[in-house]
Amino acid sequence: MVITNAKLRNKDGLWDISVKDGKFSAITAAGTSPDDEKIDAEGRLVIPPYVESHIHLDYAFTAGIPHHNMSGTLFEGIQIWSEHKTQAPLTEEYMKANIRKTLEHQISYGVQHVRSHVDISDPELLGLRVLLDIKKEYADRVDIQLVAFPQEGIFAYKNGAALLEEALKLGADCAGGIPHYEYTREYGVKSVEKTFELAQKYNKLIDIHCDEIDDEASRFLETVAALALETGLTNKVTASHTVAMHSYNNAYCMKLFGLLKKSGINFAVCPPENTHLQGRVDNYPKRRGVTRVKELLEAGCNVSFGQDSISDPWYPLGTGNMLRVLEFGLHVCQYTGYDDIANCLDIITENGAKTLNITDRYGIEVGKPADLLIINAKSDFEAVQYLSDVLYSVKDGKVIMKRVPSQVTLY
Ligand SMILES: [Zn+2]
Repeated sequence: MVITNAKLRNKDGLWDISVKDGKFSAITAAGTSPDDEKIDAEGRLVIPPYVESHIHLDYAFTAGIPHHNMSGTLFEGIQIWSEHKTQAPLTEEYMKANIRKTLEHQISYGVQHVRSHVDISDPELLGLRVLLDIKKEYADRVDIQLVAFPQEGIFAYKNGAALLEEALKLGADCAGGIPHYEYTREYGVKSVEKTFELAQKYNKLIDIHCDEIDDEASRFLETVAALALETGLTNKVTASHTVAMHSYNNAYCMKLFGLLKKSGINFAVCPPENTHLQGRVDNYPKRRGVTRVKELLEAGCNVSFGQDSISDPWYPLGTGNMLRVLEFGLHVCQYTGYDDIANCLDIITENGAKTLNITDRYGIEVGKPADLLIINAKSDFEAVQYLSDVLYSVKDGKVIMKRVPSQVTLY
């Protein structure tokens, strides 16, 4: 297969991208490739697939059961999900149907890599077992990485630490945590240490829900970054959300940023979700509730965006469209300088791949898996401005999604 007349990011001219045995075999100037099965990109942007670096597949499409979130807060969301688990017990088939629907949305929007957190505050670990099955079922269309996520705490939930260990043994890819939800600051720190201890024991990545609260005194990020540095796990560690940083004072942030840069950790940020959840107990002015994305990127830290939720107890909307998440995030973080927008697709492509630790097999380069998207746009700027459609999604050299652009007639 050859993708002809492709516009590549940060490269002048048009290119032919050849694929053989599921891998990129050559990238040559347009018009020079051999006669083969061709897809003509007609000068459109060809990019590596979108990366969803933070979502909860096991929660998607469960909004309203047993009731809707009336306060719009994170804590009511956790309460509703806990009620859902006990009052309307989850079944394997119910979860699988919701997850398949979610993945099909994501695939249709060009997502091929997903890091999903999965709730392990459950003695049966049902969500994890279901997602391990789904991961195999969808392996030819989407790569799923699973974070063992102790939604109700490692110490605040009975046997939380043992369940986390069990989940890692069963096959979760990353160890999670939620230190700001533990009963005390001390338990929070202990929970982060436990996450690191188990990740090292089972050789896993780490992704911690970190300081997802409008409390300027919530400072587990410094613990996560310090441990990442001390253990040498550095970029194998991701801090998700970090919304309390929005409220830290600048003097503390100045000191903190030195550590963050040295630690090499990644940041997964969910702009629509946290704008929806945070600031709920503020009067006006209300905090936006998203971490310091612009400053982190300018400091050289890796930041990627995630949708977090699709119609669940925490967030009522969402579609799986990463361009929508990106467009929203650029606005709320004021990451809207010309150069910021001109390179913004990094946040949901390359940066996401760094967060997931998959850069060795990600990107349009000879020898790498032939995974790509053809976007109905000529540039990052146009893609985010018009929320441009993905026309083709190709994985391992096979077309897994094709879209015919809609036609509009003006009278
Ligand atoms: Zn989350």
